[in-house]
Formats: sequence, structure tokens, C-alpha cells
Amino acid sequence: MSEVIRVAIQKSGKLTEKSLELFKHCGIDFESIKGRLLLKCENFPIELMMVRSSDIPEYVMDGVCQLGVLGSNVIEEKIGPLGNDNPLEVVKKLGYGRCRLSLAVPKNAEYKDLSYFNMGKIATSYPKTLRRFLNSQNLEADVIEISGSVEIAPSLQIADGICDLVSTGTTLFSNNLREAYEILSSEAVLIRSKRELNPCQEKTVSRFLQRVSGVLTARSRKYIMMNALRSNLDKIKSVLPGMEGPSIMDISNGGDKIAIHAVCREPIFWETMENLKEAGASSILVLPIEKIID
Ligand code: AMP
Repeated sequence: MSEVIRVAIQKSGKLTEKSLELFKHCGIDFESIKGRLLLKCENFPIELMMVRSSDIPEYVMDGVCQLGVLGSNVIEEKIGPLGNDNPLEVVKKLGYGRCRLSLAVPKNAEYKDLSYFNMGKIATSYPKTLRRFLNSQNLEADVIEISGSVEIAPSLQIADGICDLVSTGTTLFSNNLREAYEILSSEAVLIRSKRELNPCQEKTVSRFLQRVSGVLTARSRKYIMMNALRSNLDKIKSVLPGMEGPSIMDISNGGDKIAIHAVCREPIFWETMENLKEAGASSILVLPIEKIID
């Protein structure tokens, strides 16, 4: 019984670099052969399949791949909304590739509300998601399917607005468009089929998920170290955000001074460090954490 699992990721696009980086941080190394679309791994029972994002849901559903990394908007478009009826499930939100699928209109259009689009024309590469949305709002509009450069449609006067992915908004701005209504938000997710795998593959999936969780948890936490008088400990604890611990250590020849080490679950801003200093802490260090297994 094979324990090897195959993971589909985007071959080239917005998610590729961050996805490859995630595998690297999980300690999973792939042979790097330029142009090869199926990469073997030397130190983990996993294979990486480089494909188009839009093909990933199908590969995972058909069992060609056991896992896939893709934007959640792609599942919504290709298969349908996530939930009981969907044969795919999200096993982990990955926290990158965040964007939203939005309706946008020409900068100087008289847009007040969604009725602007009623009986109008909307250009998009996401026709199924858009039609589902229009139906949910009882709107009738002509959906014009375009596979790329959707932003150009209003200036060519073939559409009254567009429905496209927006991240920073720069593309809309450069094409004299403005965001009018957010239909859904999206981010990179790790998916699998709801069908059971063989027990050995299930074990590999669990091991892989533990590593991914370890990397993501570590990213959201920081390790903080400082020195202070023992008498200031309570004040310092009240300033530290989302703190676990802390560990308290004596400092050799430090007198009443102690070293305080803690893992914080929340961001540590400059203000937090200033407040810690005011509470009596000195030599405050904030360090990134590479991996965590709870
Ligand atoms: P931006 O100019 O940053 O708002 O990005 C918009 C352009 O990038 C549009 O062409 C989108 O289709 C594309 N885009 C933005 N975010 C994503 C994403 N997470 N996944 C795929 N395409 C995206």
C-alpha cells in the first residue's frame, strides 16, 4: 500500500511562489528540474504536481491528487460553494493569496447600489459565481465571459461593469475603474476530497498537515525576551499581548533582576515594547519562531 501522496499546486501564478515556500518551510525538498511538472521529493512521501489552478479541483476530486493548494474562489467557480454538497473540503486556510471577487464600475459611473447592474452587461472570468450571485440578488444581467484582461471591457463599451479578483486595487485604478461591491473573499487553501484515502496515505496527510500547522502557527506567534526587576513582573504580564507562560529565570549576578521569556500569540507593536519599557522591562528582544508543534 503506497504512502505517497500527490499534491497539486499552481504551475505559475500569484500563489506559486508562496506555495513552494510553504513546502520548503515544512522541511520538504523537491528535486528541481526546470520545466518538469511532476516533482519527486527526497525526504517525505509526497509528489508535487504543477498544473493550472482551474484544473486542481478536478484532479483532487478524481483522486489523481490527494491534496491541492488553490484560491478558494477557484473551488467556488469550478465546483460550487463549500459545504455539505461539495465533494471537496478545505483542510487548512493558508493565509496568503488573499483577494476578493468584486463587481467594479467605471470611475465616473453613477453607481448607487446593485440595481446599477440590473439589465446591464458584466464582463468576467468567473461566470458561474457571478450568475449565482446575481440570482441570489434577483438581478438580471448579461454575463459576458472573457478569459483575461477583463478590466478593459468597460472602456471598449462591451460591458457596464466587470466582476474580477481584486487584491491591492491597482489594476482597477489603472483602468479607470472602482470597486463597487464585494461578492466573496478568497485566500489560498489546502483542499482534499471527502473520499477516504488508504490508511498509509491518511497517515502521510496527517503528518503533512501537522507540519503545515506548525509553520502557520509559528508565523502568527513571536518569542519575546526581556529583563526586569521581579517586583515589576505583574505589571509586565498585564502589558504582554496573548502571552503563554512566561518562563522566569534568574540572571547570574543580576541581583533582583530576572529574565522573562514568553511566546505571544498576538502581534507585538512598537507601542507594546514602549509600554513594556515603561513597566520596567529592559533589553527587550522580539524574535520570529520558525516551527511549533503543540
Ligand atoms: P490588484 O491590482 O493587486 O488588485 O490585482 C488584480 C489583478 O490580479 C487582477 O487581474 C486579478 O485577476 C489578479 N489577482 C489578484 N489577486 C489574485 C489572487 N489571489 N489570485 C489570482 N489572481 C489574482
